[in-house]
Amino acid sequence: MSSENPLLTTWNTPFGLPPFGALRSAHFRPAFETALDSHRAEIAGIAQNPDAPTFENTIEALERAGKLLTDVGSVFWNLTATDTDPQLQEIEREMASALSRHASEISMNPDLFRRVDALHAQRAALGLSAEQLRVLDLTHKNFVRAGAQLNPEEKERLKTIMERLATLATRFSQNVLADESSWLLLLDESDLDGLSADFRAAAARLAAERDAPGKFAVTLSRSSAETFLQSSARRDLRETVYRAWARRGENGGETDNLDVIREILALRDARAKLLGFENFADYKLDDTMAKKPAAVRDLLDRVWTPALARAAEERAQIQALVDSEGANFAVAGHDWRYYAERVRKERYDLDQTTLRPYFQLDRMIAAAFHVAEKLFGLRFVEREGLDLYHPDVRAFEALDRDGNHVALFLADYFARPSKRSGAWMSDFRSQHKLDGEVRPIIVNVMNFTKGAEGEPTLLSLDDARTLFHEFGHGLHGMLSDVTYPLVSGTSVARDFVELPSQLYEHWLLEPAVLRQFALHAETGAPMPDDLLDRIVASRCFNQGFGTVEFCASAYVDMDVHAQRLPDDVDVAALERESLEKISMPEEIIMRHRLPHFGHIFSGDGYSAGYYSYLWAEVLDADAFEAFKETGDAFHPEVAEKLKRFIYSAGGRQDAAEAYLAFRGRMPTTEPLLRQRGFLA
Ligand SMILES: [Zn+2]
Repeated sequence: MSSENPLLTTWNTPFGLPPFGALRSAHFRPAFETALDSHRAEIAGIAQNPDAPTFENTIEALERAGKLLTDVGSVFWNLTATDTDPQLQEIEREMASALSRHASEISMNPDLFRRVDALHAQRAALGLSAEQLRVLDLTHKNFVRAGAQLNPEEKERLKTIMERLATLATRFSQNVLADESSWLLLLDESDLDGLSADFRAAAARLAAERDAPGKFAVTLSRSSAETFLQSSARRDLRETVYRAWARRGENGGETDNLDVIREILALRDARAKLLGFENFADYKLDDTMAKKPAAVRDLLDRVWTPALARAAEERAQIQALVDSEGANFAVAGHDWRYYAERVRKERYDLDQTTLRPYFQLDRMIAAAFHVAEKLFGLRFVEREGLDLYHPDVRAFEALDRDGNHVALFLADYFARPSKRSGAWMSDFRSQHKLDGEVRPIIVNVMNFTKGAEGEPTLLSLDDARTLFHEFGHGLHGMLSDVTYPLVSGTSVARDFVELPSQLYEHWLLEPAVLRQFALHAETGAPMPDDLLDRIVASRCFNQGFGTVEFCASAYVDMDVHAQRLPDDVDVAALERESLEKISMPEEIIMRHRLPHFGHIFSGDGYSAGYYSYLWAEVLDADAFEAFKETGDAFHPEVAEKLKRFIYSAGGRQDAAEAYLAFRGRMPTTEPLLRQRGFLA
């Protein structure tokens, strides 16, 4: 089959795009087999090379190895996320474990590591460039962090731990999903006080699907539960939903997560100790910008005190509203969202019906391109007639000031059943120039609802912000200008990677950008200044609440991963004690309580890392002030530095050094506090 498998032939397509039109799901399994075999052979060739190790025959050879696997994998993982089918899903379940085994075989290959280790020991004498040194360091570190230095017995132990952790992570998410999908609150017409027509219609559809026609159903998905808590006027029903929402994963029986968490924490602690760290937080933070739990706690502490004070003020406003209506109760957790929404409407007079016509999808795409042109000199030209993976996908070529090709940008904005929820940036090819210049193919994926036939697609303000956010990640990939694939584009520390994306959001709300692009869909009139002012003013609304619920989760995440716990630890008590230490207000709960905290237990990604969003916000708030200080949101010299040290630099430098090079100093937390409205 391989002779006719389009994945295994040279892609003679415009821009070197994957041969989407010729691709069938059945091509992936044989392509993966061939790609894994050839990668294995390449690795064996490097590990068994009779010549003494050199940077070229070992590190560069490792960077070159596995190109076919990278190509096949990037097409596959992009398609399983954006346009999947049962056949792809089956291959996906199979490949997850096969690829993890493959990665372990490489990182635990003793001959290979001996060569990397020898080079690392002589690194100062090798005459390497700064980027080469960085690549050598990172390669060595990745091997060590994956267990390359352990003895054979310890390696086996680590493999067993990793396998068990993978099983527990899957069980954790399935338990949460089970609790979310088994719970249902059925309401009658008379219970719907305060709920919008949209919500009622969706609730009626849900009830009908669950064999309760004529009723209205509330579920524990975030969109259903949170909207209900914001809008239902029935205090008793809000309390019912709130309690169930807070107890996901902690309901006893088969789907209870407390034992799962206890075992995960113990295994993570054992893994960290095997690898020579005091605890799991130390291990996880070692390759981040924060480096140590103390640095994370320090940031959280600075934000926590003003956030608590603001939350107390917000609570007082809410209580005043309750009292003014003659109700006789103290505000509780199930009241906060409902009354906060009413305060918001009263104070800012903002609602979706007024806003949406100003945020047309096409104009927001143009706005994101316009900002990239003003900052970085990029021009985007639509390329039609390309063979892409779905008819909704559009392609734009990014050109520099001289008209040279920079990148291909694919825009895939509409929701469909074959696509995962959420929004993300990914690539089909990343930039490097190991053997001549390879320019990237970047994709942004979103889940907007398409406008009716012949009508423009209208976005909410949040949607528009998401578009800018993902385009910021996209530019991080498109502008990349490094030699080695290992440090290309978004391959940076986890608590640094949200800087280019969160920073880009700031330009959406620049008055000049809104005046030019936020035009009314029917009248074409620009957004009135008064509406623009109200949008900007409402940014800090309810930030006390938002910051407290976020930080509480970040504190608890750090606490449970930064200490040695007894084997029979009581997870519920652990969470309680952690919250007592920070004087958590009674009326607010953690944004994610431990029994359903998927970021930290459904996998490794954000374990001891939930703080990352806030860490990156320190950077983006401080970085945007670099523009504000000049009085020009597009100041050419600041933009040039931003491109040079952040957007085009990938992971060529340590994150802190990169920031220092851009700003001339390390960030302070004041801009973040100002951005959240905690400073005058
Ligand atoms: Zn992001």
